[in-house]
Amino acid sequence: MKIVTHCNSCKADIKIKTSASTRPDLQMEKGDEIKVDCLNCGNTENKHVNDFKAEPNQKLILISVGLGIVATAILWNFYGAIGTISISIPLLFWKQQINATKAFNSYMIRRR
Ligand SMILES: [Zn+2]
Repeated sequence: MKIVTHCNSCKADIKIKTSASTRPDLQMEKGDEIKVDCLNCGNTENKHVNDFKAEPNQKLILISVGLGIVATAILWNFYGAIGTISISIPLLFWKQQINATKAFNSYMIRRR
């Protein structure tokens, strides 16, 4: 999962580095207003914690799908059909990403 907001002047996505997995965590870590720098146009602005949204990390999902396919191919050679069980690993991973994203996005901080 990644946490992004968008630049007010050029609308580019701005990704922030955080270990927070929920909006209150993000608020605890960075405060109500988070200063962001746009890499695209160089604009600096303060964004409210509610202006951020979570997105599933597509790259991680793709990697897990790739690994799942490789693992399935290898296990298929050794165990046959039962090897296909490993294809469920990326699905679980994907589901976890979607759920984490939803949990983040559905919780808004009360604005003061
Ligand atoms: Zn910008």
